[in-house]
Amino acid sequence: MNIELEGLTKRILGTGNFISIDHNKCNNCERCLIICVMNLWRRREGKICIIDGYQSKCLECAACYQVCDAGAIQFQYPKGGTGIVIEKG
Ligand code: SF4
Ligand code: SF4
Repeated sequence: MNIELEGLTKRILGTGNFISIDHNKCNNCERCLIICVMNLWRRREGKICIIDGYQSKCLECAACYQVCDAGAIQFQYPKGGTGIVIEKG
């Protein structure tokens, strides 16, 4: 399914689970909550989590992965052909 965002961005859903968190490594620093421009991270019952269905909103910028010094976030780009596509004009 394709979704148009302001005519510039197309997304194909069904990209699988490309971000996950290891709660044994997470130190609750909340950097991922702060850095995510799409506001996809939450604290639930004391644990940091990414929201259900994040795939439909995530920009795949990997900022959450980059700021996690604890190495608690696993990030991999969605498999070929299923990620975000930016179009000019
Ligand atoms: S940046 Fe990493 S260590 Fe910090 S709250 Fe997020 S997942 Fe946990
Ligand atoms: S990859 Fe970017 S948009 Fe997606 S959850 Fe991480 S910081 Fe947010």
